[in-house]
Amino acid sequence: MSTPLNRTLLKVIVLGDIAVGKTSLINRYVHKKFNQQYKATIGADFVTRELQIDGRLVSLQIWDTAGQERFHSLGPAFFRGADCCVLVYDVNVHKSFEALQTWRDEFIKQTDISNPARFPFVVIGNKIDQDGGARRMVDEKRAKDWCGSIKSGPSASSIPYYETSAKDDINVDDAFYNIAIAALSHDRSQELYFESITETGSLSEIVEQQNRGCPC
Ligand code: GDP
Ligand code: MG
Repeated sequence: MSTPLNRTLLKVIVLGDIAVGKTSLINRYVHKKFNQQYKATIGADFVTRELQIDGRLVSLQIWDTAGQERFHSLGPAFFRGADCCVLVYDVNVHKSFEALQTWRDEFIKQTDISNPARFPFVVIGNKIDQDGGARRMVDEKRAKDWCGSIKSGPSASSIPYYETSAKDDINVDDAFYNIAIAALSHDRSQELYFESITETGSLSEIVEQQNRGCPC
C-alpha cells in the first residue's frame, strides 16, 4: 500500500521554443486552468501534481522555464536529475518542430545521463485547436516519423507522441499520465538527493538544500 512517505518523486522537465505553450500545458495539468494572457513565468521553477499509477503514489515534479529558453540559457540545476524530458512544439509553427532536435541535443549536452538512447523523452504537439486546424504546418505523420527515428526509454523504442490543446483541454491529462509512466521507467538510482525536495520551490531553495546535504 502506498503512503505519502513511500511515494515516488519524479522530475520532469519541459523544453521547447518560446510560446509553444509549455507553461499553459503545465498550468492546465496542475491547476486545471488556461489563461490567454498567461505570462512567461509561473513564479516557481517547478510545480507538483500527485497521481496514482498501478496503485503506486507518484509525485510528478514538473519543471518549467521562465523565459530562458529564448536564449538557450538554462542552468545545470534545471536539467540535473531529470527522469523524463518533454519536448513541446506548436503544430502551427514549423520552426518550433525543427527545433525539437536542438532541444534534445541541448538536454543531452547539459545533463549527466550516461546513455541518451535509453533516456525517456516524450514529444507534445500543442495548439491543435488553433483556427480549427486550418493553420496547421506540421502533420501528425511527419511528427510521428521523427519520433520513430529516435530511441527513447529503457527499451529503446520510439519517442511517445501526443497532440494536445492546453486551451481546449484536449489530451493534456493523458499526455502527462504517460509522461509519468515514462519517467517511472527511468533508472534513477543516481538521483537520490531529489527525495528531500518539497512540493514546490525555487532554484535557490534547491541549491540551498543541495549545499546542506553536500559532504564536502
Ligand atoms: P511557453 O512560452 O511555451 O510557456 O508558452 P505559453 O504557455 O506562455 O503560451 C504562449 C501563448 O500561446 C499564450 O498566449 C497562450 O495563451 C497560447 N497557447 C498556449 N497553449 C495553447 C493552445 O493549446 N491553444 C491555443 N490556441 N493557444 C495556446
Ligand atoms: Mg513559459
